[in-house]
Amino acid sequence: MGRIYIVGMGPGSEDMMTKRAIEVLKQADVIIGYTVYIKLLEDTFRHKELLTTPMRQERKRCHMCFAEAAKGKVVALVCSGDAGIYGLASLMYEIGQEYPGTELEVIPGITAANSGAAVLGAPLNHDFCTISLSDLLTPWEKIEKRLVAAAAGDFVIALYNPSSHKRKDYLLRACEILLRTIEPERPCGYVENIGREGTKYVVCTLGELKDAQVNMFTTVFIGSMGTRIIDGKLVTRRGYQIV
Ligand code: SAH
Repeated sequence: MGRIYIVGMGPGSEDMMTKRAIEVLKQADVIIGYTVYIKLLEDTFRHKELLTTPMRQERKRCHMCFAEAAKGKVVALVCSGDAGIYGLASLMYEIGQEYPGTELEVIPGITAANSGAAVLGAPLNHDFCTISLSDLLTPWEKIEKRLVAAAAGDFVIALYNPSSHKRKDYLLRACEILLRTIEPERPCGYVENIGREGTKYVVCTLGELKDAQVNMFTTVFIGSMGTRIIDGKLVTRRGYQIV
């Protein structure tokens, strides 16, 4: 009977991992992940067997976990942020159907929406949603529908995967859709490299965000009607009366 932990390691630095995640990695015989994340763990866990697969080889990475578990090893699959938020947790359960008898356990991590919000101030302090702009696994028409619906519902929106080498103008396209119903002055922000070297954040308006150059390590926040810029920070009010 094999055992695989699916571990959310938070945004990057070790002090943003949960104690439980660190304990599980210490117990594991082998740690498997995307090359970039394994690199972040290399110093602390150099005595472990560390296996990597490049980006886009997610299925291979999952099968590798089950193959290692079948050898009797305790396996930890690491994902950035939370493994159940645009991560590999669900694929592991799906592929796991082919490997009856292997037990899976998900260890939660701090997702980019949480850690990015903390850098910007308090943008998610009312109803919010997350939308990924990646159309690798979701048709763009559906992403567009969700953007329109989120704007209609006056949600704060955390945008994941706002850009990649092949999708340079997706944030621009998303902003254009939102600008059909949201005013250009709406407070927004984005954070690059949360919890890693070179963390950078910008607070701006939706009109300015449209022309911002962001990379794949960026999480973008679109304010709701209750969002304000206070002392350079992005803050969504809950509605308390201030005397
Ligand atoms: N499972 C991850 C999300 C993976 S999708 C999580 O829960 O955070 C990849 C997207 O997450 C990136 O394109 C970016 O939008 C966001 N992201 C992940 N790590 C980040 C970081 N350290 N800084 C900024 N954004 C990050």
